[in-house]
Amino acid sequence: MNNSNIKKSNSAKGQKNLWHKDGLRFECQRCGSCCRGEPGVVWMTKREAKNISVSLGISTDLFAKNYLRLINGRISLLEHSNGDCVMYDNGCSIYETRPRQCRTFPFWSSNLKNKTEWKEQKKTCPGIDKGKLHTVEEIASRLKPELNDL
Ligand code: SF4
Ligand code: SF4
Repeated sequence: MNNSNIKKSNSAKGQKNLWHKDGLRFECQRCGSCCRGEPGVVWMTKREAKNISVSLGISTDLFAKNYLRLINGRISLLEHSNGDCVMYDNGCSIYETRPRQCRTFPFWSSNLKNKTEWKEQKKTCPGIDKGKLHTVEEIASRLKPELNDL
């Protein structure tokens, strides 16, 4: 998964003029393509690391030792030498507690910049433009930082 950050949330007023004002369709096909292959980073907060370690039934220290790395002072999941995320095992092995970066994909500000960027992402994510219609309000609210992320 690449390292684009979600920093922008759209105001209700601004949403009227957005290219995706009628919403966007997305439904994960569980192909794993965003979790494997190309090297990337999956950022997470300390709180997310703690939640994941609890879900795995191990201490946060052990989770950090086995699954995390520091990049410029920020926490990221390790990846295998082939670029696969360390948590990928025929699907995400921490799906319920996966970090926000994964939970908000593909609704990242970088992918929402314009239709071209969205279509570009579609080349590698077969869930884009399929399934459930997400309203623009829903997308904006999904991208809002959660209390846990602050
Ligand atoms: S690439 Fe898209 S469809 Fe495939 S697992 Fe990732 S989000 Fe789901
Ligand atoms: S944490 Fe899960 S969803 Fe996120 S990149 Fe790794 S395997 Fe994929």
